[in-house]
Amino acid sequence: TALLQDKFAVVTGAASKRGLGKATAKLFAEHGATVAILDLDEGAAKEAAADLGPQHIGMACNVTDLEGVKKIIDALAAKWGRIDILVNNAGITQPLKIMDIAPKNYDAVLDVNLRGTLYCSQAVIPHMRSRKEGKIVNLSSVSAQRGGGIFGGPHYSAAKAGVLGLTKAMARELAPDNVRVNAICPGFIATDITGGMLTPEKLEEIKLGIPMGRAGTADDVAGCALFLASDLSAYVTGSEVDVNGGSLI
Ligand code: NAD
Repeated sequence: TALLQDKFAVVTGAASKRGLGKATAKLFAEHGATVAILDLDEGAAKEAAADLGPQHIGMACNVTDLEGVKKIIDALAAKWGRIDILVNNAGITQPLKIMDIAPKNYDAVLDVNLRGTLYCSQAVIPHMRSRKEGKIVNLSSVSAQRGGGIFGGPHYSAAKAGVLGLTKAMARELAPDNVRVNAICPGFIATDITGGMLTPEKLEEIKLGIPMGRAGTADDVAGCALFLASDLSAYVTGSEVDVNGGSLI
């Protein structure tokens, strides 16, 4: 059955071809949602939306620009009459060691991952509160939980840990308004980017540390996002859901 029939969803950073956001937007659309894909490049966002079908929308949006984000979200809310779901998926990482993090690196990684999550949430919350219904899904990372990973630097871990704190605080504040806020902590997910950066030997070594013995897929993460965005998770808020093949066991 379609879990998101007649729902309207915004997914940030969902233009990346093999990314987690694109897979999430696709699964949401398959489950009946109308989706807006927001990403830096307008052409890529429009193309990704067109792949999903004619009713879906692609728009250029920089999640670090509060006024820009508000304008876009308000326009979508006016067009649709509501916003049911926000997935804060836009993110960047930089594989730096602690002493190599320059102020501009820190700003960039904190800005997109943490500030962007706040700004997009602030833009949708009034629309969700007024209808006493909404779901926000934030992308954190196993890097937040175990202090780093394969690609992220310490600033990425800090930003994604910040996302967890923000998730829980927002969940607490918005619970009386029936707006649920949860985070997904993906482990090692195979994408073009992650695959291309690793030697086959390194890949084998990583898999040895994963009880399920394989990398995750974008669809593994999308399935979790669908659960958190649908009424299947009606009593779930403020949680961090691990999608990591058992990496933290
Ligand atoms: P990706 O690089 O494929 O996609 C990220 C998208 O965000 C890109 O399309 C990019 O254009 C967009 N983006 C970057 N800065 C932006 C900005 N300022 N405004 C709007 N959009 C912006 O990444 P992915 O691997 O699909 O990861 C998606 C999310 O999941 C990220 O938040 C990432 O940190 C998180 N995550 C990924 C993994 C993994 O293994 N891939 C693991 C844990 C967490």
